[in-house]
Amino acid sequence: MSNIRVRFPPSPTGFCHVGTARMAVLNYLFARKHGGTIVFRSEDTDKERSSPEFEEDILDSLKWLGLSWDEFYRQSERTEIYRAALRTLIDEGKAYVSEEESKKEAGVKVRIIRLKNPGTKITFTDIIRGDITFDTTELKDFAIARSDVDPLYHLAVVVDDADMKITHVIRGEDHISNTPRQILIQEALGYPRPVYAHYPLHLSADRSKLSKRTGDVAVRSYREKGYLGDALLNYIAVLGWTPPSEREILSLDEMIAEFELKDLHKSGAVFDLEKLRWYNREYLLQKTDEEFAVYALPILEDALKERGVAWDSAMGQNILHIIRERISVGDDIKNFAAEGEFDFFFADPLLDSTRIPQKGVGATDTTRHLEAVRQLLGDLAESAYRDAETIKGAVWDYATAEGRGAVLWPLRYALTGKDKSPDPFVVAHIIGKEVTLRRIDSALKNLANV
Ligand code: GLU
Repeated sequence: MSNIRVRFPPSPTGFCHVGTARMAVLNYLFARKHGGTIVFRSEDTDKERSSPEFEEDILDSLKWLGLSWDEFYRQSERTEIYRAALRTLIDEGKAYVSEEESKKEAGVKVRIIRLKNPGTKITFTDIIRGDITFDTTELKDFAIARSDVDPLYHLAVVVDDADMKITHVIRGEDHISNTPRQILIQEALGYPRPVYAHYPLHLSADRSKLSKRTGDVAVRSYREKGYLGDALLNYIAVLGWTPPSEREILSLDEMIAEFELKDLHKSGAVFDLEKLRWYNREYLLQKTDEEFAVYALPILEDALKERGVAWDSAMGQNILHIIRERISVGDDIKNFAAEGEFDFFFADPLLDSTRIPQKGVGATDTTRHLEAVRQLLGDLAESAYRDAETIKGAVWDYATAEGRGAVLWPLRYALTGKDKSPDPFVVAHIIGKEVTLRRIDSALKNLANV
C-alpha cells in the first residue's frame, strides 16, 4: 500500500446519481492504480435532507457497479471530533462566536461560529486545471458552525480530510469555489493541504447540467431498465476520459492500468444514452448463452404474461439468439414484447386475410403459392426443421421461379401475422413442422373466405 488516500464523500440526500458514480469511479481508478486506500465517507451532516435509505442506495449502487472501498465513516457519528477542532480554533483566537439574528425565524437569536478570515490571496495547484488563485477577502468571516454543536459542511470536510489523512481530493468542478474556504480552515488548524483535482462535470444530452434529483439519472433507474453494472461503469469511466490506448471497452483492471488524472478532458462530456446503449449491447454480446438466458428470459416471461400470452420456457430458449440480435438493453425486450413482436413464437397469430397476399398479387395466385409451399414443407422430414437453411432450400427454387415476394411474403405473414419479422425460414425452424403447416393451413382457410 502506498500512502495515497482518497475519499468517496457523497451526501445521502438523494439516490445515487451518475455524477456520484463518476466521482467514485475516478477516485477508485486513481487509488487502485497507485495502491492507495479509499475512504467512503457518508456526509450526512444535513439532518433534514439526509436519510439512511439514500445512503444505502449509494452503497448498493456503487457496489453494483463493481466498486469497493477500504474504510467507512459517517459524519453524523464524528461530531465530537469536529467540536474539538472548533474548540481549538476558538481557543487559539482563529474563530469566534457571534450572536446573530436567525435567518429562518425572525426575532430569534442564534450562535454562529465564524472563522477569522485573514483575507489573503490563496493559490492552489489543481492537477487538471493548473494554478488557481482566489482573493479570499470577499469570503469575509464565513460561518463554520451553528452553535458549538453543529459543525457546518466545510469544517467537517476539512477535519475529516486531515483526520483520514486524505492525500488527493478528486471531485467535480462544482466544488472549486469551496476550495478556498476549505484551505483557510486547513491553514487555521495547521493541517497539510491535499492535492486537488477538479474535473469538469458531465452534461445531459441537452447540454444542461445533470441534476441529482432527476430520477432518470439515478443509477438505480438504469439498473431497473436492465443496464449491466460493468457496461454502465465502463461508459461512466470513459465519459470525459480517453485511455491512452483509445480503447472503448475496458475491464476495470484495464482501466486501472491506463488511468492518469491528467488525461481527464478539460471540458464537460455529454452523457449520451445512445452511447450507453451501445456499451450495454457490447457487454450483452459478450455473455455466454446461459448467462444471456438468465438475463433475458425472466424479462420476456413477465412481458408476455402481461399480454396474456402463455409462457413456454423451451420456446423462450429457442428465440434467445433472435432477442440478443435485436436488443441493447433488457428494457428493449419488454418494449418489443409489449408491442407483440414475440407473440407469434408462442401463439398462432390472428390473420387479416387482406394482408396475406403481397401487394399487387391476387388471392388466387397467393393461394396457389401457399399450397405449393405447404406441399414442399410438408414433404420435409421433421428433422429438416432443425436447420433454417434446409427449409429455405426446400422452397427457394419455387420462390425464385414464381417471384420471391409473391411466395415468401404470404408464407412469412401466415407464420407471424406481422408485416415485419424474421424471415420465414428462421420462424419455421423455431416453431417446427407441425405448427408451420397448421399456420399455412389457417392462412389458406382465411384466403378461401375472402
Ligand atoms: N458531499 C459532497 C457532495 O456530495 C462532496 C464533498 C467533496 O467532494 O468535498 O457533493
